[in-house]
Amino acid sequence: MPMISCPECNSPVSDAAPQCPSCGVAVAIPKRGFFGKLIKWTFIAFNILMLIWMIGGVGAASKVASSAASEAERAGAALGTGIGAMMVMSLWFFGDVILGIFLLLTRPKVPPPRRKR
Ligand SMILES: [Zn+2]
Repeated sequence: MPMISCPECNSPVSDAAPQCPSCGVAVAIPKRGFFGKLIKWTFIAFNILMLIWMIGGVGAASKVASSAASEAERAGAALGTGIGAMMVMSLWFFGDVILGIFLLLTRPKVPPPRRKR
């Protein structure tokens, strides 16, 4: 790995090191690790999937409601849609909360520069 010089104290630092070993200043921009990237893309994919599911579910349910013969059938379809939408919404919410926690945990940290002055 190539060596770069520290912007603060000019001592040689590996470009893979997140901070200078002699003065502690951050030299490299920290990147998300593999797990962090995985979580990020899972989060995005999860939201898209939930959106598709939501739109698809509501569309299918309204088709059932409009083709329903009796009033009771229509009410049942509406109730089913409501419960289904609630379940999808709560699943979406909890999924986002859990994935959000993982996102925060895997977030790249920039160490605060420690100066000897
Ligand atoms: Zn330094």
